[in-house]
Amino acid sequence: MTFNPNAEIRSDNVAGTGGGGGSRPGRRGGSGGGRRGGGLKIGGAGGAVLLVVVVICTVMGNNPLDLLGGSSARGPVAEGSSLEHCLTGADANERDDCLVQATVESGDSLWARLGPQEGIDFVEAQGRVFSGSVQTGCGAATADIGPFYCPADMTLYVDVAFFDALSSQYGADDGQLAKMYVVAHEYGHHIQHLDGTMQAADRSRTGPQSEVVRLELQADCYAGVWAHHAANTTDDDGNTMLLPLTTADIESALSAASAVGDDHLQGEVARGQVQPETWTHGSSEQRRSWFTTGYEEGTVASCDTFSAERV
Ligand SMILES: [Zn+2]
Repeated sequence: MTFNPNAEIRSDNVAGTGGGGGSRPGRRGGSGGGRRGGGLKIGGAGGAVLLVVVVICTVMGNNPLDLLGGSSARGPVAEGSSLEHCLTGADANERDDCLVQATVESGDSLWARLGPQEGIDFVEAQGRVFSGSVQTGCGAATADIGPFYCPADMTLYVDVAFFDALSSQYGADDGQLAKMYVVAHEYGHHIQHLDGTMQAADRSRTGPQSEVVRLELQADCYAGVWAHHAANTTDDDGNTMLLPLTTADIESALSAASAVGDDHLQGEVARGQVQPETWTHGSSEQRRSWFTTGYEEGTVASCDTFSAERV
């Protein structure tokens, strides 16, 4: 249990498609329209390595989503809401699609408070739980690319089947916080979009000290900031959304941060050569470190990865 079972998690900015998504594996490639041409193709056949490399937030670097530059910034809600079964924190403790919704709601609560303090003209992120494939403001996407944030429609996209892969393939533990870290990281990209950091970053280089990696590590740090404050985030009625995080919860989040480190994905997961010069998200150690910084400090200022001499 992580969410306050009585918290209200209904949302008008998080929606689902294609059967509501469950927490069961094997939904990938299911409903949602199949893989039509003309969309994002970074996850197609034979793209297994690419798949794991770009996993978790593909907005940066040579991200196809960006290259497509979607202009139809259409909100996700209009296409239907199959998350109507997600009503309370108890549902979020039971189902991964509800967990995504509740974590976005918690992020809304936090960043509506912190954002303006940082001079950010805050608007809530949109959330979309999908299965298989999805149309986004950045073009068509398939679940192969992992969770991502699309700036054109300011929406976080998550196929909950990814959560199974996160533990079974990439080695995170199966705790709730491992999943919530993913959502909180994507929410961090929303903040970067709102404050202009994302647009300003130099995406021409990769590597452990590149701006692309610094952008990702800052999103990890923001996920840590969220974790720091999570137990104080509230629903629309003022009820606390999460129970106080435990040491085990933080370990879960850190296990996820490690699992999606570039060195881990290239080496242990893909069984290939670790090539730091190609990194776009940072090593396991870097990702753990910046999450921890955000968690311990709880401030946006502590996440200034761009001013740090080394990250
Ligand atoms: Zn990211």
